[in-house]
Amino acid sequence: MASFEISILGASGGPLDGGNQSILLSEPGNCLHKKYICIDAGSGLRQIATMIASHQKRSSLKQNCWDDAIESFYERLEEPLHRFVDSKVRIVRGLCNDSLLDSDESIISGALRVFNNIKEYYITHPHLDHIAALVINSPACSSAEKTLWGLRPTTEALRKHVFNDILWPNLFAQKKMSFELHTLEECQSHPVKCITNWAITPLRVSHGLTVESQVRCTSTVYLIQNRVTEQAVAICGDLESDLISHKRLLANVWKHFSTTVPLEKLKCILVECSCSNATKDEHLYGHLSPNYLVHELKQLSRAYGRPLDGLQVIIMHVKMSPGMRDPRLVILQEIRQLAAAQELGDVSFSMALQGYTFVL
Ligand SMILES: [Zn+2]
Ligand SMILES: [Zn+2]
Repeated sequence: MASFEISILGASGGPLDGGNQSILLSEPGNCLHKKYICIDAGSGLRQIATMIASHQKRSSLKQNCWDDAIESFYERLEEPLHRFVDSKVRIVRGLCNDSLLDSDESIISGALRVFNNIKEYYITHPHLDHIAALVINSPACSSAEKTLWGLRPTTEALRKHVFNDILWPNLFAQKKMSFELHTLEECQSHPVKCITNWAITPLRVSHGLTVESQVRCTSTVYLIQNRVTEQAVAICGDLESDLISHKRLLANVWKHFSTTVPLEKLKCILVECSCSNATKDEHLYGHLSPNYLVHELKQLSRAYGRPLDGLQVIIMHVKMSPGMRDPRLVILQEIRQLAAAQELGDVSFSMALQGYTFVL
């Protein structure tokens, strides 16, 4: 039985604008009325509308999406989906297999209904590519309750530097709206109000140093657990390896996983891998490359004391750098080769593709 539907509203790590990181999660079930949470909000309402529209346009086509062509700006205009996604993965085009529109409902009305059913946002860190769509979308929040959650450095930055009545109106002070911002405690399991079977735990990680003052950027890994099936997924914000930060922050994350989730219940880790192995350490700027990602997965395997058989790893936040080969394919190939050499176990590696939903 599937426990999670993970829709990729955006997975780009820039520098292209649009399609930035935003992961919509729900329980499998009634597509029209279900509730969602969103981890990060670099993409939002427009992408929801686009996904509903693509379903309407293509509903006459067969549901199987394995022959779909994925936009690429490199050696070919399009690449087949199967080059990005492991063949064992369950993936569907759009937000779910069924139509998301009621009869007599326009695409924008349907998209707003889905948007209003995103009751909670969990932000990993306040960089613009992880919050931009939420800011632009926020005037549409007036008819529905929404709560933003994050660790203290994130919520403080959102209050002080974004919703500060200068960069954007302070919507938290707007009495007509039910738009709230609350701080989560690190490592504390927090019940998801709108999906009562779920609990979410924020774990702090390092995302490099600020440019001018060289202070550490805090980012977050969210562990989401279904309390009925006990299955779990982890969704990571931007982060760097402990080998670079010289902190034991990811080691703590892996320890937390291995002590709270049996390996066979850990279905998936969505994690960034922004740069290929050709990138020098000084140009990683708080991100992972395949060498560091596979090193960290090896640490996770050590924390569990066995190979990571059955785990799905979905890569996101790839930087669309210049070159001939699509960097998503370069990075996926580098990761798969390193993982085989490191004997990580039977782990499947796929790329997060905007507009598709992974069913786990
Ligand atoms: Zn960032
Ligand atoms: Zn980012």
